Amino acid sequence: MKRTLITGAAGFLGSHLVKRFLKEGHHVIGMDNLITGNLKNIEEFFPNPNFEFHHHDVSKYVHVAGELDYILHFASPASPIDYLKIPIQTLKVSSYGTHNLLGLAKAKKARILVASTSEVYGDPEVHPQVEEYYGNVNPVGPRGVYDEAKRYMEAVTMAYNTFHGVETRIVRIFNTYGPKMRLNDGRVLPAFIGQALRGEELTIFGDGSQTRSFCYVDDLIEGIYRLLLSDYSEPVNIGNPSEITIGEFAEEIIQLTNTDKKVTYKGLPVNDPKQRQPNISKAKTILNWEPKVSRSEGLRITYDYFKSLTHEELNKKEHNDFDKYIIR
Ligand code: UDP
Repeated sequence: MKRTLITGAAGFLGSHLVKRFLKEGHHVIGMDNLITGNLKNIEEFFPNPNFEFHHHDVSKYVHVAGELDYILHFASPASPIDYLKIPIQTLKVSSYGTHNLLGLAKAKKARILVASTSEVYGDPEVHPQVEEYYGNVNPVGPRGVYDEAKRYMEAVTMAYNTFHGVETRIVRIFNTYGPKMRLNDGRVLPAFIGQALRGEELTIFGDGSQTRSFCYVDDLIEGIYRLLLSDYSEPVNIGNPSEITIGEFAEEIIQLTNTDKKVTYKGLPVNDPKQRQPNISKAKTILNWEPKVSRSEGLRITYDYFKSLTHEELNKKEHNDFDKYIIR
């Protein structure tokens, strides 16, 4: 039986990975410090004897007893609001944390896949984004703590590959959505659906002309699984190229939720990328992968999940200082 460590296991993507790897017959060791993760996302796996959970911060030395075949490093805050709230932890988990997990991979002779991001391209001047593009990142802007930590993550991962011969994989994840996203993490999809469900107006930042390309979580997990099993150690974009403006996206959510509320416009956050769309040629040729779930299908499933939340969960507000970073 393969033994697989998943960090960030109680988070959105981590919890979907736990499910997938258990289904593939692995023994899964989930690790999370629960700063942004939620045990509710993985409580269904606790009765499974092939699952164990370790409450640990991977920025500190990581100890796992026994052998390991695979490590998937998915621990990190992943929304602009979180970077502002916990900037130092955001830096540490992708720098110290990645370094610790690479050391663990080396010691255990395990293959490691790290979760990088389209944010390494910053506010991109090349469109759609190809893996060869170096990016346009502001290191000292509000997103710098995330973007630069992820860029360092890629650098140290490649160094362990070339210098120590560790088997490494790097996935660059584009905007992904689905059940188990945190409702109040400030990201656009939970924000819009939460607002619609509470009967509030949908908040569009800026004029809504900025674009994103949204991938349904099951498609992403399939891509990650294929990349892990491949022999390709350069970064690979995984995302859905279907691009939409945030203004059009708000209209889709209004239709989906059948709300009678409209949109309201707020300031645009500093360094908010103007456009984002993955070029997925590499994933297509190397992994024989492309997304299968349309946005309308994925949004329907995701809406059903958010509708199933309790009244208390739906109305829980998280404090944030986001307004400080709006361009005026
Ligand atoms: N956005 C918005 N309203 C919200 C939250 C986000 O218009 O309530 C915009 C945000 O400015 C960005 C896009 O939606 O242009 C996606 O934001 P998100 O935080 O989901 O992810 P990003 O891709 O920017 O990391």
